[in-house]
Amino acid sequence: MTGIPRDHPRYESLITREKIIDGIHMGITSQQGLVAQGRGEAFDYLIGERTTESAAFAERAAVAHILLAKNPIISVNGNTAALVPESLVALADVTGAMLEVNLFHRSDARVHKIIEHLKANGAGKVLGGKGDKRLGLSHDRAIVDEEGIFSADVVLVPLEDGDRCQKLVEMEKTVITIDLNPLSRTSLTSTVTIVDNVTRALNNMVQFTEDMKSGSKNSLQAVIDTYDNDRVISDALYSMQEHLKNKAEEKGITWI
Ligand code: ATP
Ligand code: MG
Repeated sequence: MTGIPRDHPRYESLITREKIIDGIHMGITSQQGLVAQGRGEAFDYLIGERTTESAAFAERAAVAHILLAKNPIISVNGNTAALVPESLVALADVTGAMLEVNLFHRSDARVHKIIEHLKANGAGKVLGGKGDKRLGLSHDRAIVDEEGIFSADVVLVPLEDGDRCQKLVEMEKTVITIDLNPLSRTSLTSTVTIVDNVTRALNNMVQFTEDMKSGSKNSLQAVIDTYDNDRVISDALYSMQEHLKNKAEEKGITWI
């Protein structure tokens, strides 16, 4: 990793870029992953690079779904493996969910590199290497493990593609996504839409699980029952607008 000074005003964002580039060099992230990260950064800038209250609400609802699930799966792609391997492993450990590697630009070599990378970061069993079922899509994200995503009741898909999100919802799974674009097909299709950076969202979810784990099933169900996903998406858009307005006014620019 290069010597980015800690006091650089955009330190976190620059380190994140370095991690994606390291992921490409390690053969776990695709070059297209750089473009996806850039799009995410733009939306993170609009929302003020923070976890909004409604995103935290979505993260709690997501944790409640995972804790109540029979077979919860956390889907891992090349970007999340490069950015947050420790957090993925920590969330799997604390919730009891399984990790499954699932790639849009799939090659067996890359799947196995990611599995090894997760294991080097403390993961036990990691699914995704078998690829013994297809979801009925024309691209490679359709390839899943029968014991994993195929039979899961709840799937957490950080940085999902819209097509597959739709397919998983059609299969009547509870689909939780993390996507900084509140209007992507993914965000508009999922059951629980977390509009937050994966680098913040997963850590928050680990913390929330520690708080919520000892709660009763009824209290977890109550979190789910009071959750309103349309409201959360609407609040993400409002938060972006307010953030831009405040920034403009700070600089003396009139908000029309
Ligand atoms: P969709 O397929 O859902 O319509 P898309 O085609 O616009 O979305 P993809 O390229 O499939 O987008 O996936 C990238 C998505 O992931 C973008 O919506 C981007 O905002 C989001 N994203 C990228 N990096 C991050 C990150 N670090 N944290 C959260 N979201 C991110
Ligand atoms: Mg897409």
